[in-house]
Amino acid sequence: MSFASLGLLDPLLRNLQDLNYQTPTPVQAKAIPVVLSGKDVLAAAQTGTGKTAGFALPLLQRLVQHGPAVSSNRARVLVLVPTRELAEQVLQSFIEYGKGLDLRFLAAYGGVSINPQMMKLRKGVDVLVATPGRLLDLNRQNAVQFDQVQTLVLDEADRMLDLGFARELNAVFAALPAERQTLLFSATFSDEIRAMAARILRSPVNISVSPPNAAASKIKQWVVPVDKRNKPDLFMHLVAANHWEHALVFVKTRNGVDYLAAMLEEAGYSVDTIHGDKPQPARLRALERFKTGAVRMLVATDVAARGLDIDDLPLVINVDLPIVAQDYVHRIGRTARAGASGVAVSLVCADEAPQLAAIEALIRQTLRREEEPGFEAEHRVPETSATGEIIKKPKKPKKPKVSQAAVGAMPVPGKTRSPQDGKSKHKPAMPRAAAEPKGTRSASGSPFSVQKPRGKPAGGRGKRQP
Ligand code: AMP
Repeated sequence: MSFASLGLLDPLLRNLQDLNYQTPTPVQAKAIPVVLSGKDVLAAAQTGTGKTAGFALPLLQRLVQHGPAVSSNRARVLVLVPTRELAEQVLQSFIEYGKGLDLRFLAAYGGVSINPQMMKLRKGVDVLVATPGRLLDLNRQNAVQFDQVQTLVLDEADRMLDLGFARELNAVFAALPAERQTLLFSATFSDEIRAMAARILRSPVNISVSPPNAAASKIKQWVVPVDKRNKPDLFMHLVAANHWEHALVFVKTRNGVDYLAAMLEEAGYSVDTIHGDKPQPARLRALERFKTGAVRMLVATDVAARGLDIDDLPLVINVDLPIVAQDYVHRIGRTARAGASGVAVSLVCADEAPQLAAIEALIRQTLRREEEPGFEAEHRVPETSATGEIIKKPKKPKKPKVSQAAVGAMPVPGKTRSPQDGKSKHKPAMPRAAAEPKGTRSASGSPFSVQKPRGKPAGGRGKRQP
């Protein structure tokens, strides 16, 4: 099958040729004709499947072929996305696919000044890619009105709900013209997503290109059981021993991100970070440096988990498992994109058994475990199964026989730990900055456990340990 056979116009076909897109991906083959016909779409598609072109190409064509030019402070196509990064990325896709067409595009998201976005909206834009909160801000200030919106796209709808945008989304739906085309893309389908789809879509065409909730099959995945306090040292050990020089590293908290980045830097790696507290320009710069290879290691919280398109990334390392099981699929989806193969390694401690069980239930497979000699977990990670069960209760750890001096170094619940606490005998040289992470460490000694998990435990199917 060719893009031409899907009915796309010459200028779009030329742009695809320039991008060296030879054949449509499955989601593109299914979505492009349907979107061109003006019908609503409910699509189960993960990132990395080519879904952006699946909606952007036919929408560009409809913008060129149909409807009057856009008026000031109006948009004709509205694409809602969960994160700023994804907004920028989708904008870039529209710009690339729509090169040479006389259309205006804008990405609008929070964390940056609203004024330039208001200025650009004055002339009106054909495609507005926005995060829900900023879109409503712009609407309240009359910078954008919705009466000319022909098509609404919800990209990564599951992620938007996970991030708590349900109220904002409802406010946007209420303000849009009833007569419109709506496209909903989601990697996973909870009851909440289905209910939303039922409310906002009209006789949608269902498109599914890979079983929802399944992890990309080309990714080699395994788990390394380890005690929480030894995670940083094991991470550094694995990186050095395996000569891992190019990786996206996920950590639960901002403090954990800064801590690991400092360790890597100290050990001579080129590294940058992305987390929610970093100003948007710095986040985009970090991503750009990672994409171009200027830095080889990017340490991030789940802000970076979804939607980011990074070519040829061989390795994803989860130093902490995500709280929401679906985020595991999104994290490891950063590798093995566009048909390549990849590796995803997760360091898992006993506390994370419920998250592990929920992830395994979601991806319908039990992840292989590989202990690293010298880092065997004292607190055994309970066995889990692909049905989401934790099979056995963990054995009570034996009381270690310790000398009086060592007792002084044991973590005391509720007490802020000293920088030297909780290190294993495999301790790498610890940078000063890393030894003083922002926030208070937990009593268990992990620098990554300073934030309480948000929301319910991943997937909710695994039983909590006693
Ligand atoms: P997406 O799932 O939309 O984030 O796209 C994933 C990656 O696949 C991006 O790098 C796209 O540029 C690339 N891509 C999308 N469609 C095609 C295609 N038909 N041929 C080759 N690469 C593609």
